[in-house]
Parts: sequence; C-alpha cells; structure tokens
Amino acid sequence: MSTVWMNQLSWLDYQSRIQHDQPPILLPVGALEQHGPHLPLGTDGLLSASVAADAAARVGGLVAPTLSYGYKSQPKCGGGQHFCGTTSVDAATLIGSVRDAVREFARHGVTKLVVVNGHYENQWFLIEGIDLGLRDAGPATQLEVMRLEYWDFMTPDTLADVFPQGFPGFALEHAAVLETSMM
Ligand SMILES: [Zn+2]
Repeated sequence: MSTVWMNQLSWLDYQSRIQHDQPPILLPVGALEQHGPHLPLGTDGLLSASVAADAAARVGGLVAPTLSYGYKSQPKCGGGQHFCGTTSVDAATLIGSVRDAVREFARHGVTKLVVVNGHYENQWFLIEGIDLGLRDAGPATQLEVMRLEYWDFMTPDTLADVFPQGFPGFALEHAAVLETSMM
C-alpha cells in the first residue's frame, strides 16, 4: 500500500517503513483563523499539509496529522483575535504539542522530521517545542529536525511574476494573493 499519510497506516506498516526505509516524517502545522470572506478558517493547515504531501510523495516521506490550532493571530499579520471563528492556543500549548510530537517520533526511531509551518505567528514557538523535544529525546537520539515555512520556497522568479509592482512581504500576504491562489 502506498500512501503518504501516516494515519492511514497500521502501526505494523508504519514500524516497517521506519525500520527499513527511514522515511522523513513531515509534520504540518497550521492555525484556525479568519482568512477574509473568501478562504476557509483552516487555510494554513490545509496548505501546509498539501505542500507536505506533495514533497513526501517526491522523497518517499510520510505526513503526520496536522497540528491544526496555531498561536494567536496578530493584527499585523493575521487580523487579530477578535474574529468569530479564529480559535488559537496559548504559546505553552503549541510548544507542548510540538515538544511531545518530537519526543514521540524520536522514540519511534525516526531520523528526519520536518516541521512544515503554514502560520506566521507559530514560528518561534515551533523552535522552542523542537528544542525541548530534542532535549527530552536525549543526546543519543538519531533524530534531526528541520523547521520551515513553506512560503520560503517561492522563487524570486515566481514572486516577480505574481507581483510585478514589487512583493510587499509575507507578513502582508495573509489571505491575500499567495494563499488565495494556492487554495
Ligand atoms: Zn494563512
């Protein structure tokens, strides 16, 4: 059976993949927040999961279930916490979720974990969760963790094409051209 979705595998199939193929595990992280009148609340998690699935298919990786709640939406890059539907977690909750996930993947024998972020405000809390999870796993762990924002991989050529007047920066791209096009 060939699927990139970890949660569609039995534990035995998952264990076999980890032991024989050492696949990178991609962990999408999103948010549940307003994305204007035209995009779904779960845009950040849907996009990070979709990018993760495409990447996993190319490199023989597996995608773990998305962490679907993100850190609080900020007025300069997400609109703020006053919108109905925006549902955010405290920093400690997000840090704890990532920390636990990192520790568990280390215990499984995973050697490469990629945290694929889709929500601007999550960034430093993901770093903290990874740091604490690796500390929990201990110095003998084989696990290496990479954190990235999927939008870092927009090429200058693409940005020049999409924004002929000049790219305003990712902080202003909430629910705007890039996310709308990708959704
Ligand atoms: Zn978004």
